Order: sequence, then structure tokens, then C-alpha cells
Amino acid sequence: MDFLILFLLYLGLVLLSVVVCISSGREQSFSSKLATWVTRVLFYVIPAPVHRAAQKAIHGLFHTRNSFFVVLHLILEGLVYGEYTWEVFGYCQELEFSRPFLLLPYLLLAANVSFFILCSKTSPGTITKSNQLLFLHAYAYDGVMFQQDVECLTCAVRKPARSRHCSVCQACVHRFDHHCIWVNNCIGAFNIRFFLCYLLTLTSMAVSIATVTAGFLVQVVLLSNITLGHYTDDQGQEHPVDTFFLIQHLFLTFPRIVFVLGFVILLSVILGSYFCFVLYLVLTNQTSNEWFKSARYTCSSSEKHSRQDGYKNMYSKGIWANIAEIVKPLTSPAKKRK
Ligand SMILES: [Zn+2]
Ligand SMILES: [Zn+2]
Repeated sequence: MDFLILFLLYLGLVLLSVVVCISSGREQSFSSKLATWVTRVLFYVIPAPVHRAAQKAIHGLFHTRNSFFVVLHLILEGLVYGEYTWEVFGYCQELEFSRPFLLLPYLLLAANVSFFILCSKTSPGTITKSNQLLFLHAYAYDGVMFQQDVECLTCAVRKPARSRHCSVCQACVHRFDHHCIWVNNCIGAFNIRFFLCYLLTLTSMAVSIATVTAGFLVQVVLLSNITLGHYTDDQGQEHPVDTFFLIQHLFLTFPRIVFVLGFVILLSVILGSYFCFVLYLVLTNQTSNEWFKSARYTCSSSEKHSRQDGYKNMYSKGIWANIAEIVKPLTSPAKKRK
């Protein structure tokens, strides 16, 4: 029964983590939809003044720039690294694991923090009245997603091709990708390279902690010779130790370590998949914004500019040129100073 309660709690927390993690990379984020749904439910459940306050708080959380997800991100990282340092690192030292193998997660953490700061503090390419001319000539208009002579009603600037107005930052952004709640900044032409490195180091952190932790548990099982033993069930019958019993045993003996392992494995899969998606976009010279929009143009057969064989991206110039464009954006901040 203890195992069942712990396991259900574990599953609930893991599912909550999945919902929060998936919500970060979407244009019309899942979190926004979830917030709207929660607001509607609250309307029927709680008194009007409380409901209004909750609505305001939810709006502030998802539709304005704020540090909530940055703090949540730091807390999650702190908890995972705290558990790793407190229990896994110590046990692994006793078991004489290789020192560089154990220190790798800390090196990746230092790199990740650097890219996080670069990503959140670098301007993504905010378009203003004074610099709009520089961005207007960076890319040609494709006449499908990006039309010439369109003005942003909020910023009162002519919208360059591949730009988009971010309602959270209240600004138009050059080569807009998406607004990332985890770094509390837009991802655009000037910080997409840092975002890619940030994702890569974050994924590597999760994979390295998962590898060390799994290695530790395997070592514990091998050293204890538990697999050669037997256990007695509720009816008093004896059985040889099987996989289910082994998982249950590890879960009850090292609950925090197994929880962290499950969490980082899940993160490795989600972050790894998302990193591959962003890398694919970089290699094909697309932004998330364009990728989501292209599906709309492909599906609409009545659309004048839709293509029968799908939307064709006119900005790709080959893999190496596409990578070079990310490393050195077409209109760089250095050019602005000339
Ligand atoms: Zn704008
Ligand atoms: Zn933004």
C-alpha cells in the first residue's frame, strides 16, 4: 500500500512536470489554454472578487513578462542538483565511480547558467522606429506569410519579413521564433544561438545525471546480490526476485533517488526531442513561428498562395549557410553602431 501511494504521487508529479515542460515551446502555448480553462472553472466555483483576483494573477503569469518560471526553473534545478550532491554523489564516491564522470553534471551546469544568462539578457532583435530600416532589408518578403508595407499597430513600425509582434514583450522582434517563459525573453535573431546552446547543455545535464544515477542503482543491485534472492508474497508463497519486486524495493529504499531518476529521464526525452526540433529548424532556416504557420498554408486549399505539395521555405540557403546565419545574424547589433 505504501508503495502504491508513493507511486501514484510520483506519477501525478511526473505528469504535472510533463504538462509544464511541454507548455514552454508552443506558440499558442498549452499553458495559456490551460490558464483560460482554469479561469472558466474558477468562475463557477469561487466568489466573484476572488475570481477576479485569480484571473488577474493568471493573466499576469502567462501574458506579461515575469520571473515566475525563471524561479520555478531555478527551484527544480536546485532540487535535482541538491539530491544529486546530497545522496548520489556521496554514494558514488564510496563506490569509486570515475571522478570526471561524477563532476560532469556540475561542468554542464556552469555552461548552462552562462547560456541562460546570455539568452535572457541579450536583446532578441527588438525593432524600434530608430532601427527599423536596418531590419527591413535583412530578408525578402515571401508574399505569403510576410507581406510588404504592413505596419505594427502597437509599435507603429513597418514590419520586416520574418518579424512578429510579441504580445508578452509588447515589441516587434526581428526573425521572431517564440516567446520563452523559461528564460523570460523572446527568442529572435540575436539570441537563438544562445537558446540552442542553452537547450543542448540542459539536455546534457539531464542525461548526465540520469546516467550517473542509473549507474549507481545498477551497482547497488549488483553488489547486494538481491537478484539471486527470494521474496514472500501476501499469501505466504515464495517467489524468486523479479523486475517488479526490484523496482518496488529500490523505490522504497531510495525513494528520492528513484524519483529524481524518473524526472531526469523524462526531461531527457522531452528536452532531447525539443532540441532536435529546434536544430531541425536551424538547419532548414525556419523559425517556430514560420513552422507553425506553414501548416496553416499547407492545409488551406482555397488560399491563393498555398502550395499543393506544401509550403516552400524560401529562406534556406543550405545547411552550412543556415548555421552561419544563426551564428552571425544577417543584421547584427554591430552593424547597428556603424
Ligand atoms: Zn509590434
Ligand atoms: Zn516576447
